[in-house]
Amino acid sequence: MDYKALGLKVGLEIHCQLETHKLFCKCPSILKEEKPDFTIKRFLRASLSELGEKDVVAEFEQEKNKYAIYEGFKENTCLVELDEAPPGKINHHALNTALQIALLLKMDVIPEIQFMRKQVLDYSNTSSFQRTALVAMNGLLNFNNKKISIQSLCLEEDAARKTLEDSEKIVYRLDRLGIPLLEIATGPDINDPEEAKKIAEYLGMMLKSTEKVKRGIGTIRQDLNVSINKGARVEIKGVQDLRSIPKVIENEVKRQLELINNGKKVQSEVRKANQDNTTNFMRPMPSSSRMYPETDVSLININKKDLLLIKLPELFTEKSLALEKKYNLSPELAYELVRQKIDLGKYIKFKLEPELITKILIEYPKDVRARNNLDISKLKENDFIEILKLVEKGIPKEAIPEMFTDILTKGKLNESKYEVVSASDIESEIKKLVEKNKALIKEKGEYSIGPLMGDVMKKYRGKVDAKKISDLIRKEIAKLS
Ligand SMILES: [Zn+2]
Repeated sequence: MDYKALGLKVGLEIHCQLETHKLFCKCPSILKEEKPDFTIKRFLRASLSELGEKDVVAEFEQEKNKYAIYEGFKENTCLVELDEAPPGKINHHALNTALQIALLLKMDVIPEIQFMRKQVLDYSNTSSFQRTALVAMNGLLNFNNKKISIQSLCLEEDAARKTLEDSEKIVYRLDRLGIPLLEIATGPDINDPEEAKKIAEYLGMMLKSTEKVKRGIGTIRQDLNVSINKGARVEIKGVQDLRSIPKVIENEVKRQLELINNGKKVQSEVRKANQDNTTNFMRPMPSSSRMYPETDVSLININKKDLLLIKLPELFTEKSLALEKKYNLSPELAYELVRQKIDLGKYIKFKLEPELITKILIEYPKDVRARNNLDISKLKENDFIEILKLVEKGIPKEAIPEMFTDILTKGKLNESKYEVVSASDIESEIKKLVEKNKALIKEKGEYSIGPLMGDVMKKYRGKVDAKKISDLIRKEIAKLS
């Protein structure tokens, strides 16, 4: 598709959970899968506003006659999540991370940050609103010589997570409610589906570089704003996997084109991303969210001096480039070291190429996991050191996967299995073998190397390099003629 001719415009909204306690209480930000310690039943009731009128949206929801069950845990739910106590002081770690990101994206920080209550009527917030604050605006990201505007950076509370919904009730877990969330919104400056993925990836990398963001599935979620000429702006919510971004955009462009070609009007609306990268209608585009100042949280003054004191993190891409140069590593391996927070310095003492050491730390275990379905997260620093010692002694690379498998299945490495065999031992063994098989060699020539190799490898597998053996056999055979 010619996206330029179609006038494709994409804006990204990236939400990411922060690895620190909750935003307005000291409860830890951990999700639990066990049975809840307590449950609470609540009905949504429309109340009179300060102007004396009932909220129509709230009334509409109330008429559905549903109720909510909230599941909580003593460990991570207090009166704040239950909306029985006012919010406590803002979590300064979360605010600090927000300011780091604002500075990295060259944004204007709001001098007086005010938390607002954004109305939410799907029961996902016990208070029927979400606390959110605009921290900074007007940023800029230089990406491959293209300027992408960053419209806003908000710090907010994550909502409770829905675990069940039927005709009469909705069940929410309160563990996620209140986890600090950063929301970065770019301008509609992206004109290509692949570019959208790369920019989302870059922003994700920047967030991870603060070392303050949560890891794992669902911790970073992206929404997309997509439009084309003669179409309309459509917001797509909840794209969980970065890799599906191009496909979701492509499908949305196709959907809008089809409507346009059939003479229909494209509605500006909110859609939900599905697993198969298609989307479903969710709701009409809200005119503007209903926001009220959160009077229980005081204004946060940020002055220029405070901003100067904020330490900016070194980006993963910068750290990775430095390792790449220092140790002559491939960019992929260097990046993995940084991403997995592996300190190569601990292992570099072995007299081996840094590239091989890095592969033993990263690639070999990954292969073993893929091939044998083993849990490589159990591997300890000492396990890697044991393997590196053996490889340094001369055990061939071919034996490395087996070493990892032994550690993971038997709990330890049987070192006697990986004895280094001396070159003279192998040579005499091969000499004997060739002598014994003279007839076979005469008859089959080159083709006799295969079966001879089999015999030698049975004895020395994992101890000698296969190529070295085949070279030695060839040499012996050559002596015969
Ligand atoms: Zn709490």
